[in-house]
Amino acid sequence: MDFSLYEKLGISKKVYEFGEEIIKTLKQRFLEIDALAEYNQAKVLYALQKNRVDASCMQASTGYGYDDIGREKLEKTYADIFHTESALVRPQITCGTHALSLALNANLLPGDELLSPVGKPYDTLEEVIGIRNSTCSLKEYGVSYRQVDLLKDGTFDYENIKKAINEKTKLITIQRSKGYQTRPTFSVKQIGELIKFVKDIKPEVIVMVDNCYGEFTCDIEPSDVGADMVVGSLIKNPGGGLAPIGGYIAGRYDLVERCGYKLTSAGLGREVGATLGILPKLYQGIFLAPTVTASALKGAIFAANVYEKLGYKVVPNATEDRHDIIQAVELKSEKAMCAFCRGIQYAAPVDSYVTPIPADMPGYDSQVIMAAGAFVQGSSIELSADGPIREPYAVYFQGGLTFPHAKIGILRSLQEMVNDGIISL
Ligand SMILES: *Cc1c(COP(=O)(O)O)cnc(C)c1O
Repeated sequence: MDFSLYEKLGISKKVYEFGEEIIKTLKQRFLEIDALAEYNQAKVLYALQKNRVDASCMQASTGYGYDDIGREKLEKTYADIFHTESALVRPQITCGTHALSLALNANLLPGDELLSPVGKPYDTLEEVIGIRNSTCSLKEYGVSYRQVDLLKDGTFDYENIKKAINEKTKLITIQRSKGYQTRPTFSVKQIGELIKFVKDIKPEVIVMVDNCYGEFTCDIEPSDVGADMVVGSLIKNPGGGLAPIGGYIAGRYDLVERCGYKLTSAGLGREVGATLGILPKLYQGIFLAPTVTASALKGAIFAANVYEKLGYKVVPNATEDRHDIIQAVELKSEKAMCAFCRGIQYAAPVDSYVTPIPADMPGYDSQVIMAAGAFVQGSSIELSADGPIREPYAVYFQGGLTFPHAKIGILRSLQEMVNDGIISL
């Protein structure tokens, strides 16, 4: 192998060899991830075959989008993958926040109460719910909100959850991934235990799981352990890096139907919504999603092992089980965060000549740095890293459509840290 190609990418022999030593220790883990990818590939394949997906499904509908057979079969395919009665999978769902907002707004009416038994939800949902006052929040429409924080050790506060469930509690939202918090990500098994607990208290309560970043990281999904709706973004795991836009809601038939009416209009519901020629990308994306997610998992594990070995705190740690694709690395200084993000950016297939710098962002009380050189704007199943410039100076790293690219990105980040004199190998 001609090493000069790596040098052209900005990776020195020393950094490369440091990475190789770590890769050697990960063989067994990677085999387990390959087995997971194969199982999930079989799951997706079976769903496509069961629905007799064929060439007619790859056509473009326009205008109203009536009788779009490709759209209908894609939705049935998602429903079969998640083992749910129904699914709504649409390019008209603009992002993950929109999908979550839709599921909530469609199924909560004035006077109802929403409960989060797992602490504060993802930042953007604060405005959806009205935790931060905002126009068109659920709060404005008379839906109240209650939250039970996690216990200090990151586990569920069952005692206070029980107290929080009352006659108004209509829907319970559980966020699977830690997102940009320091709490652990929940396993599907843990989520199942929590669902059983709340349904024992109130059987008719609707449980929604924010499944962002969690899809295909495990052989079961929250819908296999009692969730009534699972919700996510197509520019994360299930889009496989190919979906250019979209979100999904998979779940109980009546709940998903309501989402259809809320997305378009009462009366019209799911009958309208042209797909404009993007169905091949959505089909190919879900087909590739199991292996793409596996690549991202391997990248996260490699990053955890590299940076833990160098003495940094990493969450999850080098050996823990994974339930999402996010890897946090506490880099201890702004300088180190900038170096790390520069490396990720310089290793990107798009915008590799750009240097990321910290900047103010709406909704954040500190500056934020972001590295992303993606084919699909903002896609975080593609290799990306970001973090707020504040204690503990943690950078959140995720994605990688292929493991070789994730690996190159991590080595390039390490190189920037070495070049800046932050670490020496
Ligand atoms: C990404 C994410 C969202 C929001 O998705 P967007 O597509 O960015 O709107 C919500 N919840 C979690 C846990 C996420 O990771």
